[in-house]
Amino acid sequence: MASLKEQLWDPVAGFGVTFRTMFRRVATELYPYEKKPTAPRFHGRHQLNRWPDGLEKCIGCELCAWACPADAIYVEGADNAEDGRYSPGERYGRVYQINYLRCILCGLCIEACPTRALTMTNEYELADDNRADLIYEKSRLLAPLLPGMEQPPHPMRLGDDEKDYYRGAGQGRGGADPATQDTQRATTSHPDADEHRSTGSQRTAAALDDPGTRS
Ligand code: SF4
Ligand code: SF4
Repeated sequence: MASLKEQLWDPVAGFGVTFRTMFRRVATELYPYEKKPTAPRFHGRHQLNRWPDGLEKCIGCELCAWACPADAIYVEGADNAEDGRYSPGERYGRVYQINYLRCILCGLCIEACPTRALTMTNEYELADDNRADLIYEKSRLLAPLLPGMEQPPHPMRLGDDEKDYYRGAGQGRGGADPATQDTQRATTSHPDADEHRSTGSQRTAAALDDPGTRS
């Protein structure tokens, strides 16, 4: 049993904790009124990226779906046609869905993607009030068209054949460097994103506007 001295001291010690806390910095975040930027590599909503002429990077290979531990991705590939081309390769992702009721935002799918078609943005506001709206279709996942890009389907603008196309995209023939382009968009809600994006857009637009850069 506690002594009389301890019984008297305990409330004083308890109020001491309260008193000290009153002078500490408040850690409460006023979300959703004030939204703090995430870390640059935060895993948020996915994005399907495009090449600098607007064609889709996804080739419908389904590797992302196979890599997903939560079975959250559904892909159906289809063949490109010369009069209906969506990606520079042979195939494209005709159907692409991510089920955010299942996704645990682990990022294994983006590691598996061979073309860097799939990346993750910093967008974290993924709550909704019904199940159907949390299954994101391709239309909601595709990156927006930047200036100088065309809405597919359309022919390859960066080269006559696939080899030329990828060289053109990588060496400035089509403008933006594909290796950095998806990274720029993958940081959409980061404070630096607008600066990065406008730099990429300007480069893309300038190069695509230059007739000498087209095939
Ligand atoms: S982030 Fe993880 S859980 Fe979500 S779709 Fe990709 S692999 Fe699946
Ligand atoms: S996002 Fe990448 S891994 Fe998934 S189907 Fe498209 S190309 Fe393949």
